[in-house]
Amino acid sequence: MKAAKIKTLLETSELDQSYAVQGWVKTFRANRFIALNDGSSLKNLQCVVSFEQLEDTLLKRITTGAALHLEGTLVESQGEGQKVELQVEKIRVLGDSDPEKYPIQPKKHSLEFLREKAHLRIRTTTFAAVMRVRSALSFAVHKFFQQEGFYYVNTPIITGSDAEGAGEMFRVSTLDIKNPPLNEEGNPDYKKDFFGKETNLTVSGQLEAESYALGLGEVYTFGPTFRAENSNTTRHLAEFWMIEPEMAFYDLTDNMNLAEKFITYVLKEVLKDCAEDLEFLDERLAKEDQSKPQAERSPMRLIEKIKFVIENDFKRVSYTEAYEILRNSKPNKKKKFQFLINEWGVDLQSEHERYLVEKHFKCPVILFDYPANIKAFYMRRNEDEKTVRAMDILFPGIGEIVGGSQREERLEVLEKRIQEMNIDAEELWWYLDLRRFGSVPHSGFGLGFERLVQFTTGMNNIRDVIPFPRTPQNAAF
Ligand code: ATP
Ligand code: MN
Repeated sequence: MKAAKIKTLLETSELDQSYAVQGWVKTFRANRFIALNDGSSLKNLQCVVSFEQLEDTLLKRITTGAALHLEGTLVESQGEGQKVELQVEKIRVLGDSDPEKYPIQPKKHSLEFLREKAHLRIRTTTFAAVMRVRSALSFAVHKFFQQEGFYYVNTPIITGSDAEGAGEMFRVSTLDIKNPPLNEEGNPDYKKDFFGKETNLTVSGQLEAESYALGLGEVYTFGPTFRAENSNTTRHLAEFWMIEPEMAFYDLTDNMNLAEKFITYVLKEVLKDCAEDLEFLDERLAKEDQSKPQAERSPMRLIEKIKFVIENDFKRVSYTEAYEILRNSKPNKKKKFQFLINEWGVDLQSEHERYLVEKHFKCPVILFDYPANIKAFYMRRNEDEKTVRAMDILFPGIGEIVGGSQREERLEVLEKRIQEMNIDAEELWWYLDLRRFGSVPHSGFGLGFERLVQFTTGMNNIRDVIPFPRTPQNAAF
């Protein structure tokens, strides 16, 4: 008999019929009740075996973590807590598990402990819920852009340009690290390297996506990016997934509108598709909140927060307005900020972003028109010569979730900027070509996918929303 998914059995299957299921034992109670989970659903299927069916040797093999194939009849449940249960008629152990050594016991484990067991943590209710939401979100991302007429492009993962990454990139090389060929200056000779030049893992697909937008119109990337920044925070990974739409004929306002519509859409989709998982995560977060001091508790529950973002417009504020708000804010005056705000042009730190979002506006915020000197070379310069058409979207609990801009389409302005910032213009010859042949206003942004998953699932640490996190000093598994 072909096994059915537990989700199907729980939701739609007819009673008093025979079914087969397979999955892993979560718990086995009273030598009678097996809670079986196959990953298809948050809920386990209660499978009831009768004593007489079980030889002692078989009984011993039904332990937490073991994999089973069961056949039986689906009936209305006698007990409380579930509508249906499987009256087991046949048991096959597919994979034994040593209950003494299996690390995922039927009790609460800390997230830190589970990070060290990342190969098995997906068997916990929390991680399975998070990863199902992650999957639904990524599908919603593609659905949104495909519906909007965008094309999905795959930009290179190995890149020959380091214009964007300045010092924060992972080198890709096949040279013998202990004994590299040297050039005349005594440095490693990358001409002899695999690609005949220095190469790195990409920090962003943007520049290549721009090339494609200026031909296909509206495109997006969704792929892995790598940053060798030594940020040991709850919001930074060395390897993370980024979604980067890039659109010809869009100005900054069009760009902000798209970003807001996009985020709202994907959140709506998961509310619909992952209701059960989100309710569980909502409850989980509320419990966690209870153990915190009053001042640190979240004013909203998880689902409430998601709905709030869907239902309310993001507040749009220029850097200059935000600067004034921050300069005059209580924590600034009382010197509570680690970095005080007292000069126009300073970069905003996460503490400032969170103040704006969580304390001042109490909703997602889009900051735009940043000082040119704290932003990248490709952002379009404003008339004032001091600011650029950048926009960052800031979320409660997360801080920056999106960074984007209208791109500089004017060749001379871009060339001047590249020179001012001491960037190697030769490396960017092809990028400048885009401004030589049919240049048009265009815009785009990058959204860190894991930060979106963090927001949606309420997981506090970014290491818990990607299967196998890569962070400084850690690339286990
Ligand atoms: P931050 O200031 O938070 O370090 P950033 O300014 O370096 O971010 P961008 O270069 O604008 O970020 O990248 C676009 C988006 O990618 C960010 O808005 C964020 O959502 C995400 N992101 C950036 N760095 C990381 C990282 N190390 N790990 C996970 N996501 C990241
Ligand atoms: Mn960064």
